[in-house]
Amino acid sequence: MKNNLKIYNTLSRKKEVFHPINPPHVGMYVCGPTVYGDAHLGHARPGITFDIVFRYLRHLGYKVRYVRNITDVGHLVNDADAGEDKIQKKARLEQLEPMEVVKFYTDRYHENMHQLNTLPPSIEPTASGHIIEQIELIKKILKNGYAYESDGSLYFDVEKYNKAFHYGKLSGRRIEELMQNTRELAGQEEKHNAFDFALWKKSDPKHIMHWPSPWSEGYPGWHLECSAMGAKYLGETFDIHGGGMDLLFPHHESEIAQANAATGHDPVKYWMHNNMITINGQKMGKSLNNFITLDEFFTGNHKALDRAYSPMTIRFFILQAHYRSTLDFSTEALKAAEKGLHKLFDAFYLLNELKPSKKSSVDVKAFEEKCYEAMNDDFNTPMVIAYLFDLAHILNQVSNGQENLTKADIDSTKTLFSTFLVDLLGMKDEKGKDNSELVDYLMDTILNIRQEAKTKKDYATSDLIRDELAKMDIQIKDTKEGAKWNFK
Ligand SMILES: [Zn+2]
Repeated sequence: MKNNLKIYNTLSRKKEVFHPINPPHVGMYVCGPTVYGDAHLGHARPGITFDIVFRYLRHLGYKVRYVRNITDVGHLVNDADAGEDKIQKKARLEQLEPMEVVKFYTDRYHENMHQLNTLPPSIEPTASGHIIEQIELIKKILKNGYAYESDGSLYFDVEKYNKAFHYGKLSGRRIEELMQNTRELAGQEEKHNAFDFALWKKSDPKHIMHWPSPWSEGYPGWHLECSAMGAKYLGETFDIHGGGMDLLFPHHESEIAQANAATGHDPVKYWMHNNMITINGQKMGKSLNNFITLDEFFTGNHKALDRAYSPMTIRFFILQAHYRSTLDFSTEALKAAEKGLHKLFDAFYLLNELKPSKKSSVDVKAFEEKCYEAMNDDFNTPMVIAYLFDLAHILNQVSNGQENLTKADIDSTKTLFSTFLVDLLGMKDEKGKDNSELVDYLMDTILNIRQEAKTKKDYATSDLIRDELAKMDIQIKDTKEGAKWNFK
């Protein structure tokens, strides 16, 4: 299959032409959420970033198997294998079964991802559903000599591994620095080195979630699940592994190490990482307690928000930045995104009203090519959006008679909007099917009352209506065919 798609590969630190291992099949694994709390804006970004990758690869004709896991066990409060399991802690605090916590937050995550119009992954495996596969993987690593047992727990021997392979090839971290920088943590005496990571942890008697293994009653280390489930559903080597930049180290670095230790080769051809969302320049995250959940955005129920912002506003806001750039949150930026999105849909609908000319003054084909070039350049969604804004501006000029389009070009522009705005960027018009009829009816009624006031020379009333609507960013234009309205 021929394409010009280039993907920035974190492993090589450059853009590479995308050549899947077994075309037309593409295997893509993305690290999903640890389900112990509501999804926040930081979770929306990988959800949407890899939805774009999924949508575009399918659009190019690839058969994509998209695997995104649910972490429901093994993710400890402290990433260095210390502290309580995040889900168990939540269960203890709320006096629930751990699996009640898992079900509750998994359902809410699905609902949020659906609201953001992300397509569901092909497979969504859970860590707790793949304990056997994880134990089998540990056995291989142990047999090859890259793990050691310590009081019923198993640890990955990073130093030994680094002599045969390269620990740090993804993150660029050097093991010498790790040796100097890692703090000795309480409860870490079992490890040979502080940077060794757990493959299997013996559970203490208080631990609710544990399974039998050849070594102890316990539970798997956090990095293990993605190696085991990626290999199970996509093979020992697959095309794309994605996730947030915060997972690059130690999570993804350790995944690479586990795969090499078990099979002797790298697990993934293209590593992709989305950048973080910041608030006032600081990373948004649970541990920093400066996050806003998606539900809080959708309801406006948060002190940093002046009102509700819709799922499509959030989606458009995220896509207005390239996924590898940081994105700073502000309500001004959300308002600008909301306005911009309305403008694009207004232009899309305007296409149905344009009068065709005999000749076009605009090269629509060139716009299509530019949009594809942008998507092929490592999924450059802000460029695609910029071209759609240019087109929207031109369509308004066509409507005013300043530019011309033939019937064929009007049709191609419609296809271009529906392909890029709706299918690939995944935007939906939220004036919405359910309400749009009602809104149209109400607006017609209001404009009729205004017209009647004008006829009676009651300009105070007609101006009042215009000014009140302007507060909601609704603009009224008087035309020969009567008054028309649109969002500013
Ligand atoms: Zn993962």
